[in-house]
Amino acid sequence: MTLQFDNKFVHTFPGEMSDGKIPRQTPAVFYARATPTPVPDPTLLLWSSGAAELLDLDEPASDKSWEASVFSGNTQLEGMEPYAVRYGGHQFGQWAGQLGDGRAIALGEVVNRQGERVEIQLKGAGPTAYSRRADGRAVLRSSVREMLCSEAMFHLRVPTTRALCLVTTGEAVLRDMFYDGHPALEPGAIVTRLAQSFLRFGNFEILAATGEIDNLKKLVDYTITLHFKGFETESPDAYLVWFHEVARRTAELMVEWLRVGFVHGVMNTDNMSILGLTIDYGPYGWLDIYDPGFTPNTTDAREKRYRFAQQPSIGLWNLARLAEALAPLMTNSEVLEAAFETYRSTFGRSYQTMMAHKLGLDQWRAQEDETLVQALDEALRSTEVDMTLFYRALADLRAEGGSVINPRLRAAFYDPNPDRHQGLEVWLAQYAKRVEGDPRSGEAVKTVMDLHNPCFIPRNYLVQEALDGLAQGDRKRLDELMLALKTPYDLNAATQKFVARRPEWARQKPGCSDLSCSS
Ligand code: AMP
Ligand code: MG
Repeated sequence: MTLQFDNKFVHTFPGEMSDGKIPRQTPAVFYARATPTPVPDPTLLLWSSGAAELLDLDEPASDKSWEASVFSGNTQLEGMEPYAVRYGGHQFGQWAGQLGDGRAIALGEVVNRQGERVEIQLKGAGPTAYSRRADGRAVLRSSVREMLCSEAMFHLRVPTTRALCLVTTGEAVLRDMFYDGHPALEPGAIVTRLAQSFLRFGNFEILAATGEIDNLKKLVDYTITLHFKGFETESPDAYLVWFHEVARRTAELMVEWLRVGFVHGVMNTDNMSILGLTIDYGPYGWLDIYDPGFTPNTTDAREKRYRFAQQPSIGLWNLARLAEALAPLMTNSEVLEAAFETYRSTFGRSYQTMMAHKLGLDQWRAQEDETLVQALDEALRSTEVDMTLFYRALADLRAEGGSVINPRLRAAFYDPNPDRHQGLEVWLAQYAKRVEGDPRSGEAVKTVMDLHNPCFIPRNYLVQEALDGLAQGDRKRLDELMLALKTPYDLNAATQKFVARRPEWARQKPGCSDLSCSS
């Protein structure tokens, strides 16, 4: 097996070369060498052949073949130079100081046949210099959730890091899942993640916070040169132009999350990719019932800082923290604020286009459609409606030329009481009027709508069912989900069985509606 390694990051920047696993501050360096801690019985549970194409890898011969050993960190390939990256971050609104890759270890960077740069990272491969008081491990449940969701997001066309495979370790990991003082042993696992780069806002923030301005400049130059094609580092406003691009990508990402009903759950600045990717799948969730105030993260249940509809504002808040970090590189730091306007206008424009696609509008009419979307938000909130089922049913309605609640739409309601559906009836009449003059055929409109409204999302309860199955030694549901997530917009044999409301039993069950950070 040959992977072409070209470990630019560790060769460009200074790091701590001794692989001390002792938790510590690492000023003046960008990373610390980190050797994965061997595990007793690495076994491949999941493999994504789509993600494997990024590394030009074939399907493994068996669950114990060399891939299990390499992607658990037990064996190192020629050219690997494992390291953990230093970063900081604002967590829940507060500067948290140095954090770093506490349980992620980069094995190196590969350049694939297409000439693309791919960083390979193990999550859960043991302690690093940044593990603080934690063990550097990950449990099976959170690893399955990360694997499924990153691959699902890719097929949903939402920018994301990828997941190559999941290896179970044969080692038990101690976690207090409910934070109630009753820790229990759970099976451990390691996910191999792939991305062009895992650099976060926090990588830049830590350098500004410790006054390492030369290092900050080096990191910005490196990021632009290596990861932002077509952008430059030399002209007087080069950094500003780049920052506008980061703002633009972040805004686009927020629109995509809103489109598919995704709630990240922990939008701390250490979880914000500089490339505008969805990164670090922890206590994330999906809207089953349309509820702008929903957050799956039990740690955030009171303040709901990272709730669904708040995500775009948090994206902007996080950009402001990044701007503060970058300010020392600017002759006039106030110019950075102009990028907030880029963020707002990009978000505004893309949000409109996205909603026009979701609703099957031929064009966006400024005032009329703002009112329409706002009215829809209110109508959906006036009863309990499944967001995903609703939009697919709306496309069917367009194809049929109907304008009243039909059985398909009714199937999206969690509350069967027709009195609670009146708001939507009124809205449907308003909508029918709005689309009256659309010259396209109903079928043509449905085709466009279905391309933007998934019929399949990996709802939390589905993943929980897969985990419950696994615990009984049954991987059927897991395999079904891995297959369905590849075609989230097509109603076919793989997705059809998951086109349903969340069952009532899942409403309050942990893992189905809420999740803790203990992973
Ligand atoms: P997260 O909220 O998962 O993005 O993690 C925040 C910080 O805690 C990062 O620096 C992680 O590397 C670190 N961290 C989370 N879980 C662990 C763990 N089990 N062992 C070591 N570090 C961890
Ligand atoms: Mg993180």
